Amino acid sequence: MNAVQLDNISKSFGNVQVIKNISLSIAKGEFVSLLGPSGCGKTTLLRMIAGLEGATSGTIHIGGKDSTRLPPELRDIAMVFQSYALLPHLTVLENVMFPLRMRKIGNRAEQRDRAVAALKLVQLDHLTDRRPRALSGGQQQRVAVARAVVSSPQVLLLDEPLSNLDARLRESMQEELILLHRQTGLTTVFVTHDQEEALSLSDRVILLNGGRIEQEGAPKALYSVPRTRFAASFMGSTNLIDAELQPHGDGARALLSDGQVLLLRAKHSAKKRATIMFRQEDAILAPEPDNAALSRGALIASVVTQIFLGARTRYVLDLGGHMIRCLAPAGQFYAVGDKVELKISPDSIHVLED
Ligand code: ATP
Repeated sequence: MNAVQLDNISKSFGNVQVIKNISLSIAKGEFVSLLGPSGCGKTTLLRMIAGLEGATSGTIHIGGKDSTRLPPELRDIAMVFQSYALLPHLTVLENVMFPLRMRKIGNRAEQRDRAVAALKLVQLDHLTDRRPRALSGGQQQRVAVARAVVSSPQVLLLDEPLSNLDARLRESMQEELILLHRQTGLTTVFVTHDQEEALSLSDRVILLNGGRIEQEGAPKALYSVPRTRFAASFMGSTNLIDAELQPHGDGARALLSDGQVLLLRAKHSAKKRATIMFRQEDAILAPEPDNAALSRGALIASVVTQIFLGARTRYVLDLGGHMIRCLAPAGQFYAVGDKVELKISPDSIHVLED
């Protein structure tokens, strides 16, 4: 049985359809991120799972139970909002006890024990008597997380919970969320527009585009092999090149506009124009090859600019009229205008569907 099951879910506001026939299963204990640019519908989808928005069509099952028409309080879910939404007149402890009181779960002593245990999970059990205004943003966020997990819901829904935190705090909260998930085993749905955050936290990433699922998969798969131009651009650090694809032995070759050739592992039976993609870290730079290497088909590019990043240097290169980006170890230096050899494994070059 899946923790969450969406079947053919659509949502329209007036005559604008913002969620378009999405079907999705989330397994018990899974950590899934809904990722996509602003306006793609991720918050709306999360709010529909929570019951805060009704579905225009389709069904939603939570813990195997048809919950499509159930109000939020009757769905076994808890949600953490970007704004934390703590009650200012209650202490930290009372805020965390609040959902147990509302649902009349246990007596006061039991509620207290459970709230303290939840606060321990987020390392805030020493601040039980503080009011929210006397806490930092990160601490308020942790209280909101403790309040969400205290009733051990079937599903924990997180709507960009880290976006109000500064970069350093955000990183440590990401680590805490991973630990929390490991300790509680709660099925978690996490909304974010930050691809790095989605990749580092999730078992599975659902990439949304215009109210539809563009691609879904394990973080590594989505990062390494995006299927479409949208997915490749959104996942970042990719090079996209339009080329002519030709069958070649067991694989294929991509002919660039200056006549240079890239070899690909994937087989392609017919000649066609296509977008090929490789990641910037998969292109290895080497000094300009000699004539013998050139006759073996070494790939030549020229340095347009370089950006020092500390441990590595990013080079922008002109490869047959295409601007591409590559990463090189900091010790390796090429000057603007230098000719360099580019080595890219045929396994690292992928053909996009559109
Ligand atoms: P963001 O990252 O900016 O929060 P999102 O991917 O979460 O974006 P949603 O908030 O789900 O996107 O919005 C999806 C679309 O639905 C947007 O075009 C938005 O303007 C529209 N929308 C959302 N809520 C409503 C509403 N209550 N009434 C009308 N349109 C809405």
